[in-house]
Amino acid sequence: MTSVERYEKALGVLDTYIRDHNLRHTLERERLLKIIAEVNAPVFTVHDIDAKRKDAHISVPTLYNSLNLFVSARILYKLERTHGVTQEQYKWALDAKNSMRVICTRCGREAVFTDKALLRIIQERKYANFVPAHFSLYVYGTCKTCRRLLIQRNNNERGREKLKVEN
Ligand SMILES: [Zn+2]
Repeated sequence: MTSVERYEKALGVLDTYIRDHNLRHTLERERLLKIIAEVNAPVFTVHDIDAKRKDAHISVPTLYNSLNLFVSARILYKLERTHGVTQEQYKWALDAKNSMRVICTRCGREAVFTDKALLRIIQERKYANFVPAHFSLYVYGTCKTCRRLLIQRNNNERGREKLKVEN
């Protein structure tokens, strides 16, 4: 994902989140999102974006409020502070893909599907002692081709039995 693609995707997620939670749009947040999208590293800290934050005239409280909002909206993950790390690290959550697939148990064919209602249910579900990151959902069944073959085979068998009875 390029930084522009990432920014646009994140902005879309943010828009939805803001609408759903009756928050207001602020230019600072959008500017900050753009700054973060341009960080070319798998993880970043507040220190990594500090110079650009100052250039964009974004205050420190706004920075932290926005980062927390991005985490709530699942645009970013906040990583646990490990030993020796003095600043919180953030990672893009949008790079990890949720996937929903249908799989044919006869031929193994896979297809991707999207269901926004289902996505929302899974993302908003609370788990005891667990913070979800992303998910994979598989729906098993029979594809159209295999179903057609199955029906054809059943019809043929029925046809043969009919012939046997007639003979
Ligand atoms: Zn199949």
